[in-house]
Amino acid sequence: MTISTHPAQRAFTARSIPRWLFVALGILAFAAVVFVAGAVGRERAISNLETEAEGSLPLAMGALRSEIDKQRTVPFILARDGLVRDILTRPAPDGIAVVNEKLLALQQGTHASTIYVIDSNGMTIAASNYLEDQSFVGNDYRFRHYFTGAMSDGQANQYALGTVSGRPGLYLSERVGTQAEPLGVVVVKMELAEVEEGWRQSGRITYVTDERGIVLATSIPEWRFHTLAQIEPARAAAIRESLQFGDAPLEKLPVNPAGVDGLVNAVTGPANRLFMASSDMVSGGPPGWRLHVLVAADRPIMSAVFMARLVSALALGLSFAAAAWLAQRRRREKSRREELTRTAAELETRVAERTAALSNANERLRGEISERESAEARVLRLRDDLAQANRLASLGQITAGVAHEINQPVAAIRTFTENAGKFLKRNDTENVVANLNTVIGLTDRIGTITETLRGFSRRQSGAPVLIDIEEPIDGATLMLASRVKEAGVELVRIKHPVPLKVRANRIRLEQVLVNLIRNAFDALAGTEAPRLVIETKADGEHVIVRVTDNGHGIPPDVLARLFTPFSTTKAEGLGLGLVISSDIVSDLGGHLSARNVPEGGAQFIIDLPEAK
Ligand code: ADP
Repeated sequence: MTISTHPAQRAFTARSIPRWLFVALGILAFAAVVFVAGAVGRERAISNLETEAEGSLPLAMGALRSEIDKQRTVPFILARDGLVRDILTRPAPDGIAVVNEKLLALQQGTHASTIYVIDSNGMTIAASNYLEDQSFVGNDYRFRHYFTGAMSDGQANQYALGTVSGRPGLYLSERVGTQAEPLGVVVVKMELAEVEEGWRQSGRITYVTDERGIVLATSIPEWRFHTLAQIEPARAAAIRESLQFGDAPLEKLPVNPAGVDGLVNAVTGPANRLFMASSDMVSGGPPGWRLHVLVAADRPIMSAVFMARLVSALALGLSFAAAAWLAQRRRREKSRREELTRTAAELETRVAERTAALSNANERLRGEISERESAEARVLRLRDDLAQANRLASLGQITAGVAHEINQPVAAIRTFTENAGKFLKRNDTENVVANLNTVIGLTDRIGTITETLRGFSRRQSGAPVLIDIEEPIDGATLMLASRVKEAGVELVRIKHPVPLKVRANRIRLEQVLVNLIRNAFDALAGTEAPRLVIETKADGEHVIVRVTDNGHGIPPDVLARLFTPFSTTKAEGLGLGLVISSDIVSDLGGHLSARNVPEGGAQFIIDLPEAK
C-alpha cells in the first residue's frame, strides 16, 4: 500500500507555509502545553494541600482535646471530695493543710499548672502552690469569669493571663455544692505549653482562637494574643481592662488571603510565605474556640508545577522526537520503495532485453544446428559414397598387384605340375607327391588372396570379432608384398612378445593398413634406403600399431587437415583414404593419428582398445 498526498495539498503544505512558521507554531504549541500542564499541576497540588490541611486538623485537635479532657477531670473529682467540702463549710487550719498537700500531690501527678479552692466569696483558701512565695492562698478571684460562671452554671472555662504569674493559661473550674447552695469553686489552671510544643513538632503552624478571634494557644509564640481581624481600639481597651490578657497587643495576625480558596500569605519571621489554611470548631472545649492549621504550600505547589511542566515538556519532547523519527523513517521507507521499484523496473527491462537476445540467439542456434545437421547428414552420405568409391579405386590398384601375385604361384603350379608329370613317367612317386603338395600349398595361397579381395569389396563387413592384431597386418602386407619387393622397400615388423587381441573386423582393419602402407610407399618414392616399420605394442588398455616410414614426411599444411576429405598432395589422389581409415578405426572404438618423426618421415598410429 502506498500513502500518497494529493498534489495540490502537498503544494499547499510544503510551499505556502514557510518552515520558520512551522517551527514558531511548534514552539508556541509546546509553550502552551507546558503552561497548561503547570496550571493543572498547581490545581492538583492545591487540592492535595487542602486534603492534607484538613487531614491534619483532627490530629492537632486531638492533642488539645485530650489535654483539656484530662485536666477537666481534676476539678470534677475534687468538687465531689469530702475534704474539700469540709474546708469550704468549716475552714479549719488542719483540714486546709491536708487539702493543700492533696492539691500539691495532684498538681505534680497531672502536670497541671496550679490547682486551687476558692470559697463562695471568691477568696482562695487552699492551693497547690501554698508553699511558694507567689501562693494563690488569700487571693480574691471574684472578678474572674471562671469563678462567677462556675458558681452560677456549675462549670466554667476561661483563658487568661495569670494575675500573679503573668503567664497565660486555661482555667477550668467546677462548683462545689449545688446551685441553690454553692459552697465554692475548684479551679485547675493548665498551661498549653506541652500542646503547643506538640504542634510545633508537627511542622505545621497551628493556633487556637477564641470567640472574638483572639489567638490563645499557638505553635508560633509571637502570634499569641494577635487577632484574626482588626479589633477596634475601644474594644481592645475593654478586653485589656478585663485583665484577661494583661497588656496584650491585640494586633491583627500577619495572615492574609492569597486569592485562591484556602490559600493564605503568612509572615513567619522574616519570610512571607504561602500556606494552605484549614480550621474547625473545638467541640467540647471552651465555647467559640476554633483551631487553625496552616500547611506550607509554596514548595509543594512549586515542585508540583515544576514536575508537571517537566513531565509535559519531556513527554512533548519525546513525542516530537518520535514523530520526527517516524516521519524520517517513512521518508526513508518511501525512497527505499521508490528505489526498489526503480531497480525492479530496470531489472525487468534488462531481463526482457536479455530474454529477447537469448531467444534470438536460440533461434540462430537452432538454425545453425539444423544447418549443421543437414550438412553432417550430407557429409555422412558423401563419406559413405566416397568410401565405397575409394574402396573400388583401391580394388583396381590391388587387383593389378594381386594379378601379379597370383601369376607367380600359377606359373609355379604349372612348372610343379609339368615336373610331376615327368616324375610320374619315371615312376618317381615320391617327388610327384612332393610336387603336388607344393601345388596344394600354392593354391591355398591363391585362395587366401582371392578371399581377401572378396572381403575388401564387400561394403558391409560384418560384426567385429576377437582377432589377433597381427592378422590384418599380415593380410595387408601379403596383399602389397609384390609392391614391397618392386619398390625395394625394407619392411620391418616389430611384434609384441605376446599376442594382442582386439575386437575388430579384420577386413576393415586390413583396408586401413593397406591405405597407410600405400601412402608410405608413395612418400618413399625417391627415398634412399626406403624403410617401412610396422610395430605392435600394448600399454595395458590399448593396442597400438605404429606404421613409420622414412619418406618425405607430411607437409605441414596437409598435417593440419589430414583427416578432412580431399586433402591430398597427389595429382591422381582423392584425399579420402585417411578420412575413411580414421572413420573405420573410430567405428572400432579407437583413434587414428599422425605425426612427422624427428628423423624424417611420417608415423601413423592406430590406437585400439585391447580386448581381453
Ligand atoms: P591420397 O592418398 O588420395 O592423397 P590420403 O587421404 O590417403 O589420400 O592421403 C592424404 C595426403 O596425406 C596425401 O596426399 C599425402 O600428401 C599425405 N600423406 C599420407 N600419408 C603420408 C606419408 N606416409 N608420408 C607423407 N605424406 C603422407
